[in-house]
Amino acid sequence: MKDPRKTFMDAGALKEGHFLLASGKHSGYYFQAQSALQHPSVARETGKALAEFWKNEEIETVVSLAVGGVLLGHETAKALETRHIFAERKKGEMGFHRGFSVRPGERVLIVEDVITTGGSVREVIGKLESSGADIKGIAALLKRGKAEFKHPLRALMEAEWEAYDPSGCPLCLKRLPLSTPGTKQFS
Ligand SMILES: [Zn+2]
Repeated sequence: MKDPRKTFMDAGALKEGHFLLASGKHSGYYFQAQSALQHPSVARETGKALAEFWKNEEIETVVSLAVGGVLLGHETAKALETRHIFAERKKGEMGFHRGFSVRPGERVLIVEDVITTGGSVREVIGKLESSGADIKGIAALLKRGKAEFKHPLRALMEAEWEAYDPSGCPLCLKRLPLSTPGTKQFS
């Protein structure tokens, strides 16, 4: 994958403009990974690109986070020829279900689509550490923000996208029409 940013922009997954986010804040960018990953060819190429950096790390298992990371976890595992399990949130807590487990010393790579604060990834790291897994690193499609981890993180795209309170939004001041991604436009 030569230019992830272009690939995701062409697929309509990455948009520039003036957006109302679910949080109620405004932003000049919007990213919805799955609207590009719905195309199997994009998912496959993204998985290959995520796997590339780790191919000499003798990864045994890819661990992704449901729901957003599962498709990429699968594609990354396919490229690395490893197995793939995922953690999911049940009753407020990230954990492994469906018979998934890791053994002490198992070399794992964590895969997530978008990392913002990194809270969920940190929860999964905690679970993996309590199983004694050997966490080699974290692969993400997009790192958005300043999350820090003690394990190496490689993201295909990195961005510092500010989100503004509507009262102090510079895009509102420019009178750019506000849109809600995935629904109709309004201003
Ligand atoms: Zn605004």
